[in-house]
Amino acid sequence: MANVVKYLSNMKIIVYFCTNKLLKLKKVVIIGSGFSSLASACYMAKAGYEVVVLEKNEQLGGRASLMEIDGFRFDMGPSWYWMPDVFERFFADFGKKVSDYYQLEKLSPAYRVVFGENDYIDIEDSPEKIVQTFENIEKGSGKHLRNFMNGAQENYRIAMQNLVYNPGISLLELLSVESAKRLNLFVKNISQQVRANIKNPKLRSILEFPVLFLGAKPNKTPAFYNFMNHADFGLGTWYPKGGFNAVALGMVKLAKELGVQFFVNEEVTEINFTENQVKNVKTKHGIYEADVFISGADYAHTEKLLHKNRNYSENYWQKKTFAPSSFLYYVAFNRKVQHLLHHNLFFDTDFEEHAKEIYDTKVLPKKPLFYANFSSKTDDSLSPEGKEIGFFLIPVAVDLEDNEEIHEQYFQLILDRIKKCTGEDLSDAILFKKSFGVTDFKERYHSCRGNAYGLANTLLQTSVLRPSIKNKILKNFFYTGQLTVPGPGVPPALISGKVVTDYILKRGV
Ligand SMILES: Cc1cc2nc3c(=O)[nH]c(=O)nc-3n(C[C@H](O)[C@H](O)[C@H](O)COP(=O)(O)OP(=O)(O)OC[C@H]3O[C@@H](n4cnc5c(N)ncnc54)[C@H](O)[C@@H]3O)c2cc1C
Repeated sequence: MANVVKYLSNMKIIVYFCTNKLLKLKKVVIIGSGFSSLASACYMAKAGYEVVVLEKNEQLGGRASLMEIDGFRFDMGPSWYWMPDVFERFFADFGKKVSDYYQLEKLSPAYRVVFGENDYIDIEDSPEKIVQTFENIEKGSGKHLRNFMNGAQENYRIAMQNLVYNPGISLLELLSVESAKRLNLFVKNISQQVRANIKNPKLRSILEFPVLFLGAKPNKTPAFYNFMNHADFGLGTWYPKGGFNAVALGMVKLAKELGVQFFVNEEVTEINFTENQVKNVKTKHGIYEADVFISGADYAHTEKLLHKNRNYSENYWQKKTFAPSSFLYYVAFNRKVQHLLHHNLFFDTDFEEHAKEIYDTKVLPKKPLFYANFSSKTDDSLSPEGKEIGFFLIPVAVDLEDNEEIHEQYFQLILDRIKKCTGEDLSDAILFKKSFGVTDFKERYHSCRGNAYGLANTLLQTSVLRPSIKNKILKNFFYTGQLTVPGPGVPPALISGKVVTDYILKRGV
């Protein structure tokens, strides 16, 4: 007995039921602090729950972590702020505005797509300007683009009003007159749709780019998802001052105002249950009891902790189409970069080949596309005066084995391609760099197979066909985040947090 007492005190057991009982508040424990967890924490707190968030890493925000070195401030994950309406709607649910928590700037131009030596297209900040750009490159394409964008805008409206805020529990959710009218858009893919009228390969690849955020090849993504083109051209590319981490911190601030308690360096290592209820979760510092549990940590990782009560087998996760993993580089430059913008996509190689290497053959890519970001071009606060931060991303297959040496080879490839396409040699301007890859995704985020941003939105991984938000056996255990509904990306993560909370509150636990 004495041993047990000693063990318990050594473990600094944190048991919250006392406050819980005194105040008669129901309690929820949320695993992870990514955007989905932060959103569900806010909604659960607003509904009157006592909320505790447990985060494995040293900071809050999940993939939107901040790496700060010698006055250089790198966003470690997301950098494209799209669908500002989703963020506005989130804060409005709490009687607040985005501007109460962080400041936004619309980027103009939105981004640059590089196709070769001094060969690039800048995407401007309004649909009319973009139509003009298309028309200048391919006569007649402006008209097609306008039609395409009208359809995309309508799909966006339907998706936001009728589809993405559903829990993905019943097929009935998909039945509405408007969605029924669009069934053909689920059968057709986005590639077929784009290629029907636009002939220029550069314009085609620009129109296929937005669905890459959904994690699958354009020819595997239903045409209905062209609503992402409305997000791109119609709603524009925005920048949150201070970087994407500022968005996460804004949500943390709101959550704290609502009474949410956060614990970092607090990895959940065990989930303990009785027959059909989770009782508590364990970390190395203690045990947390609650009435309801929500995991915003990687779904497949969470499942491992549930043992016989998991929803899906290991084999299920092996068969799923994951969004790519990535090689990432965070680079400090001792001067400003001259010939590129804030966001730059290097589409100067064959995307078909690269896509095959990511999704089919799953090998290291020969000539990958990549993304280069210099957000200190917009925001002085991210780097010391006169200097620049660079963030580079190469999408790669999940499950690849990688190491520093491999990362270095691909970094050289990036520098060579930037030099070839823009004439600018950045190799002599590097102060320091850090790389991050497949293995790091597994270690830092417990990411299944090293995925960078979840489970792709293919036809067979949409809505009710995605991993369920509820555990089928444990009545008080739920899931949120990029592996469940509605899908990958920051706006869907926010929506996922709302969806799971609405479901819990409606159903009652
Ligand atoms: C490099 C990169 C670039 C991206 N770019 C964009 C972009 O430009 N725009 C965009 O909209 N989206 C982008 N995304 C996708 C977007 O960041 C994610 O879809 C979104 O942030 C996922 O949020 P989440 O809440 O589902 O999960 P996460 O952010 O992964 O949060 C899960 C959290 O759970 C924690 N956790 C795991 N296991 C445990 C445990 N056992 N105990 C406690 N905590 C645990 C993890 O540490 C993590 O903090 C990008 C992602 C990456 C990686």
